[in-house]
Amino acid sequence: MIASVFARHRRRPLTALCVGLLGSVAAQAASAADCPGHPDAIGTSRTIVVDPRAHPIIGTMQYNKTLPLEDREVVLTFDDGPLPKYSNQILDILASHCAKATFFLVGRQANGNPEGVRKVRAAGHTVATHTQNHPAGMHRLPLDRSKQEIEQGIASVTAALGDGTAPAPFLRIPGLRVNDGIEEFAASKGLQIWSADFPADDWRNVSANRVYDLAIQRLEAKGKGILLLHDIQPRTVAALPRILHDLKVRGYRIVHVVPATADRPATPTEPSQWQLHPPSEMVAISRWPKVPKFASAGPAALPVPALSHLDWHTTDLGLRTARRGRGVPLPPAALWPRPTTLPPVSTLATLPVPAASLFKIPESARLTLLASPTHRAAAAQARSTEASSAKVAGKSRRQGRTATTQPPEPAGHAEQTPQTQSAAGTAPKPATQAKRNGRSVRVAGLKKR
Ligand SMILES: [Zn+2]
Repeated sequence: MIASVFARHRRRPLTALCVGLLGSVAAQAASAADCPGHPDAIGTSRTIVVDPRAHPIIGTMQYNKTLPLEDREVVLTFDDGPLPKYSNQILDILASHCAKATFFLVGRQANGNPEGVRKVRAAGHTVATHTQNHPAGMHRLPLDRSKQEIEQGIASVTAALGDGTAPAPFLRIPGLRVNDGIEEFAASKGLQIWSADFPADDWRNVSANRVYDLAIQRLEAKGKGILLLHDIQPRTVAALPRILHDLKVRGYRIVHVVPATADRPATPTEPSQWQLHPPSEMVAISRWPKVPKFASAGPAALPVPALSHLDWHTTDLGLRTARRGRGVPLPPAALWPRPTTLPPVSTLATLPVPAASLFKIPESARLTLLASPTHRAAAAQARSTEASSAKVAGKSRRQGRTATTQPPEPAGHAEQTPQTQSAAGTAPKPATQAKRNGRSVRVAGLKKR
């Protein structure tokens, strides 16, 4: 049915004239200067002609390819219309910018407002379809129902156009919820499924500012692509002028997309152009071969290796295996290397003995070493032992000398110094306290430098 609709595809004379010009559309840049009365308009920089049969699925939200756009090129798409209250405002805004877009119309909406469908076409936009009833759970529908939705949607929009012309063979699945088999069906009918490269969430209950923010942020993140909007939402109407203005300020360009026909050949492209970011020679990438799908011949087809196939010639291997009662025997000898033989003791004796002066620590470094938490813990332990010895020996001289080697303690920490513990003759949790105090001492030591 769809094929017959496309076979009857006719154009009006005015359209034919435009199509004739499209032979060189890629080279034509309708800049803002071509938008009379709107000096700030972004305009439509070029039109590309695509062949749905050569590229049946596009949009990186779902697929690994998208329209062959240059950097900073944007394709505007609007779903779910026509709904006169908002669709007409969207058309007015686009007209004031001379910006061309693609409208994915719902068949039921077209039935209720055929004039709106014709307005979209008369304004020079691309008319595409979005199923008949916009089922929310398209992916859960039986395949036959999904096919019916698609075909009825095309039939309704065709009827609304009123002159026998068919919509462009561009299809957007409601909610982008593709069910199994629908892509194959669409391809068999010459339909191109349009996902998108980024939405602006304008179908959610968000503000117009949020729609604007998301549109710009997501576009900036990808650098180009298909923007998904809805022409039935007041927030989209409110956000669109600012989006278009900002696109121009930021150096983006609007691209219009039309389908190829017998007398309108597709814009020549390279396969790499259909990728959002084709691999560059400047970017290192790895392409691993895919794991092949092996066809199983069944478990019984593989011969079980006999023990004689193994290259182990140990005669008692079978005995050991049987004794251990396990299927995997150990190898007869360890595989790691044997220990090497050490040189004779006489050789070691010829090595020079280091002088004692090599281990002498300069006095200037001693203070820093003493300030380390590890040393403080050891020192606290040592002093605790020394204090006990001094008490037994009746000597207090050693304790006084130890105090002079300690760095200055910051105020407020003196009550927990190791000296206090030493004086008390007890050292509860010496490591913990030394660590806490050591931190303060280290700060003081750094300040001194
Ligand atoms: Zn929709």
